Amino acid sequence: MKTRVRFAPSPTGPLHIGGIRTALFSYLYARKRNGVFVLRVEDTDVKRYVKGSEEYIQKALEWCGMTPDEGPSCGGNFGPYRQSERMEIYSKHIEKLILTGKAYYAFDKTEILSNERESAEKKGETFKYCAKNRMRFENSLTIAKGKVKAKLNDKYVVRLKIEPGRKISIFDEIRGAVEINSDHLDDKILMKSDGLPTYHFANVVDDQLMEINCVIRGEEWLPSLPIHQLIYEAFGWEPPKFMHLPLILKQSGNGKLSKRDGNKEGFPVFPLAWGDSVDGFKENGFLPEGFINYLALLGWNSGTNQEIFKIDELIDSFSVDGIQKGGARFDYEKAKWTNHQHLIKLSAEKLSNLPSIKAQLKEVETSKHKELIKLLKDRLFTLNDLKSEIGWVNKIVQYDEKIVTKLKSKSPALILKGISNVIGNNTVLDNHKDLLIHWAKENEINFGLMMQCFRIALVGKLTGPDIFSICNILGKNVTLERLNCAISFFEPKN
Ligand code: GLU
Repeated sequence: MKTRVRFAPSPTGPLHIGGIRTALFSYLYARKRNGVFVLRVEDTDVKRYVKGSEEYIQKALEWCGMTPDEGPSCGGNFGPYRQSERMEIYSKHIEKLILTGKAYYAFDKTEILSNERESAEKKGETFKYCAKNRMRFENSLTIAKGKVKAKLNDKYVVRLKIEPGRKISIFDEIRGAVEINSDHLDDKILMKSDGLPTYHFANVVDDQLMEINCVIRGEEWLPSLPIHQLIYEAFGWEPPKFMHLPLILKQSGNGKLSKRDGNKEGFPVFPLAWGDSVDGFKENGFLPEGFINYLALLGWNSGTNQEIFKIDELIDSFSVDGIQKGGARFDYEKAKWTNHQHLIKLSAEKLSNLPSIKAQLKEVETSKHKELIKLLKDRLFTLNDLKSEIGWVNKIVQYDEKIVTKLKSKSPALILKGISNVIGNNTVLDNHKDLLIHWAKENEINFGLMMQCFRIALVGKLTGPDIFSICNILGKNVTLERLNCAISFFEPKN
């Protein structure tokens, strides 16, 4: 049997990191089994629908390299792939359940149910519409058969008829078997009074008709599994396998990671920007392969020490046994480190052609791009780090005050003059270092101190890549100019 896995987001805004991880695990599971990865848009909740979300989901999946095999934009043999376009299918299926007595119409007025809810609350209980009390209400089980048809002109819902006192065994591939008693459940609404199916109903019908044999989704859906199981049973269908992924926790480990945590702590929680105000991992300088790699490790491990995976390696290594039960703590530093590992593997050529790198190098001569990237790429954790690394390329350097104070008492102007002479008289470019070592030795100048003076003159601070490579990129004239500037800056003024 062909493995068919679906990702079934609701278009209620941008895809949160948890959603995109569900997509990734579904994708890896499908690819590992040469199966099919389906995108189904669950857009039946009109109140929560947010314009632009579906396009966002498509773009996010594409950026991550997880293009669906079937879905609203590419089609497939099991469409339509938007639930809003499948209304006839749901109506037909609800009728089937009514005919077989597995579901029933309920005509109860909102006020009546609200009153029931209120009085249950007063007693410290939760109101449930179920086998115990359903015969007290107005539904197709309680009113005369002949009157039901006429009642269907009014507002009504369709409820699942759950038999009392049943043991329902559910099985989650990550957590194992759980048994619950049907007395804890209420007769879930399958079709709402606006004629739209509920999530539970549409989800089960679609998974069956789309021949989905593995459902991977967030842990928050685990409590719904008994209901889903009963809907499968009511139709006489075989349920798929289920995997409920652990929560993604805040950096502190306390509670679920939310959109607000990202804003508060300054890291992204979405793959891509949403509108003008919210940036995603992409805009924060992540490579899709770095992002995907980090995401895969949020709740899964390969059982080895390997932490850096290309997408093909993830597909090869992915297995359900490696998915953890407990929540996975989000760690932005680790995400950046993972991105860094992918970044350093890219060639300078490839990197300098990335749009975000190009944009940051806009003001640097094109002939210098590749050399500059070669020099700096090991220092980048995100692509955006480049900006702060190239501050010295075009601009006159601002000296770090702390270092200036530290060097002042050590005759920096004299040392810089020496460096300037050595470089000025040198006709070859790549042996400055040897000549400077020699000069420092001859003049009994500490080599470390000399290098500090040299670095502050060229870059303004003591951190940065190899100073002789910086010299080469700046060229002899600019190097000498900067040395002269620093000499006048440090020279004692009368
Ligand atoms: N539409 C649901 C969501 O967005 C899907 C849950 C499921 O995969 O069954 O969370």
